[in-house]
Amino acid sequence: MNPFVWFRQTKLHTKILIAMFLGIPLGLILGPKAEYIRPVGILFIRLIRMIVVPLVFSSLFIGTASLGDIRKLGRIGLKTMGYYLCTTALAITIGLLLANAVGPGRNIDSATRDGLMSSYGSAAGEKIEIAMEKPGVIDTLIEIVPLNPLESLAEGNLLQIIFFALIFGVAATLVPGDRAKPLIGFFEAVNETMIRIVHIIMKLAPLGVLALIAAVVGQFGADILISLLSYSLVVAAGLFIHMIFVYSSAVRIFSGMKARDFFRGIRPAQLIAFSTSSSSATLPVTMECAEDNLGVSDEVTSFVLPLGATINMDGTALYQGVAAVFIAQVYGIDLSFGDQVTIVLMATLASIGAAGVPGVGLITLAMVLEQIGIPLEGIALILGVDRILDMLRSAVNVTGDASAAVIVASTEGELGKPKNLEESW
Ligand code: ASP
Repeated sequence: MNPFVWFRQTKLHTKILIAMFLGIPLGLILGPKAEYIRPVGILFIRLIRMIVVPLVFSSLFIGTASLGDIRKLGRIGLKTMGYYLCTTALAITIGLLLANAVGPGRNIDSATRDGLMSSYGSAAGEKIEIAMEKPGVIDTLIEIVPLNPLESLAEGNLLQIIFFALIFGVAATLVPGDRAKPLIGFFEAVNETMIRIVHIIMKLAPLGVLALIAAVVGQFGADILISLLSYSLVVAAGLFIHMIFVYSSAVRIFSGMKARDFFRGIRPAQLIAFSTSSSSATLPVTMECAEDNLGVSDEVTSFVLPLGATINMDGTALYQGVAAVFIAQVYGIDLSFGDQVTIVLMATLASIGAAGVPGVGLITLAMVLEQIGIPLEGIALILGVDRILDMLRSAVNVTGDASAAVIVASTEGELGKPKNLEESW
């Protein structure tokens, strides 16, 4: 068969996978020149990010307004938060256990250490500065209430948008008679139109992914990865273990869904998260996968997933556990059990309020390190491979969000048959 005809007819996630594999040799051949094709990837990311705010707002508003039951909303909220906190704590624990057992930082020689410090020291300094300017936990919680919802929409502040959409939706159910109907109808139309846009943009996904992967490979090459191989492998192994064991069993136990079906359904979102390194940018795709491929109701999707994209970052938390132990090992610092418990608490808190955008995990890592007195400059040691690990942890982050959506929907009796619309994307 003509390869072009075959490519056109093949499924979307296969196309994205092919694009990824082609991106690696392309990046190696082009080297630093791969930078020139990065704009194609950036364009793709901007296109999906463009619809995050209208999609989240309209779907959350309709979800709440049509639920018409505040108690149910509270129940869904509690289950979601409970699940997010438990899986995040589990993820960091897996990271800490692995890093302590393998000890990736124990055999870094001083020449490699000094080389990394001198190449990445100043970039690390910038990250540390950003981290120090971040508001504390209490301020982050207070700031969930927006002063001006339009400003939150304009700035794309997801937590504030979620808060306002919930109140707006609940209030719409309290308006007597049919008077709120036109408002709900309007947002229903907005929502459906946004979903159409997701489908159109996803047609460009293979091209965007090809450019993004080639640019990363071209920029970093393989050298840096090799000097930090054992650290990178521990992070990757931890992420893999978390994904395969924690999510598969949670989904199986609480919803009865087979792990294979779950992973197959969420695959397009994982691939997009991997290539964009951003769970927020992937949100529209995660929402579509949850509804169409996994059968989650739109009410549950529209609440659980936007919340997850901002506050639930299991992959990030796991990586922070490994990174903290790694840096401590390189500096010869012994971490007590108490220090490790502090890491679990701090990394769980740090993931709340940090938006799912590229590289955010590295910035919140500075807060974790500071808390236990590990030198912040140590960030320079891991900066070189961060971009690649960011891709992996973002894919895990969206998988965690989707597993929550499946479980919450199932316990609420809102897990239906998947529509499997992916073919028509
Ligand atoms: N890039 C990650 C995400 O968007 C966050 C991080 O770990 O840096 O999910």
